[in-house]
Amino acid sequence: NENIQLEIRIVPYGDDLRLLVAQDVTQLRFMERVRSDFVANVSHELRTPLTVLKGYLETLNNANGTVPESTLKVFRRMEEQTARMESLVDGLLSLTRLESSTNQLMQKRVDVPLMLQSICDEVKLLADDHPSIELVVETGAGLLGAEQELRGAFSNLIVNAMKYTPPAGRVTVRWRDEGKGARLDVEDTGPGIAQHHLPRLTERFYRVSVEGCKNKGGSGLGLAIVKHALTRHGAELKIASTLGRGSCFSCCFPEERVLRGDFRTDAKIA
Ligand code: ADP
Repeated sequence: NENIQLEIRIVPYGDDLRLLVAQDVTQLRFMERVRSDFVANVSHELRTPLTVLKGYLETLNNANGTVPESTLKVFRRMEEQTARMESLVDGLLSLTRLESSTNQLMQKRVDVPLMLQSICDEVKLLADDHPSIELVVETGAGLLGAEQELRGAFSNLIVNAMKYTPPAGRVTVRWRDEGKGARLDVEDTGPGIAQHHLPRLTERFYRVSVEGCKNKGGSGLGLAIVKHALTRHGAELKIASTLGRGSCFSCCFPEERVLRGDFRTDAKIA
């Protein structure tokens, strides 16, 4: 029956036996699709009223001189919260888009060095008082994949590093060829994350309150989006972190995704 979905696994059984396990996952996949469609629809529907709200708030905020300063302050708070809600809705939409298995992965030639340079230039403009950021491009290698998804993943990691690292700290973005595959490291000298949190960081809405930087906004969806985008490219997200010293988020791409040879980039290679 073509409507039945089976998942087949081989599990060790004793010293030299293996079990072939076939599990009927039809119901599970169906429920996953229902959940994903529901989240996508709700997020989509929430977008329009949010845009309208934002418009009204902007008008109110521009009413300088006619409303007392205390009221303007309230408008600004409302604007912040609307922006937060908008980023949640956008995050949920990206996540459901990535999750839907019918969505085929685009196979484009992606100039990674150029992409990283543009992300780093952009994040510098985001905050006035940001840690120093260094981009080290060791290879001109590119990737075969979906440009928007890769950009989303890389910029999430770089924005996080900038967001959680104090202004006196340092963020290093390194793109390198490992012979068998390529790797992006986003390393920071920020607060670090306790070991017991690491396995759960890529779960949706999982957040850790970071000592000294309490009000960082954020939706807790960023790393879930990164993980999904990387999985679709056959890549792995590795997280290493030491409390009080910093973190390193690495995206490890398999050899078959890496474009070498005549791949050209306009970015400067170290
Ligand atoms: P958000 O940043 O929106 O909270 P993410 O999914 O991007 O959500 O990150 C999940 C959590 O992981 C964050 O709440 C933060 O506690 C932690 N985290 C992510 N990146 C870093 C980093 N570079 N340094 C310290 N903590 C981090």
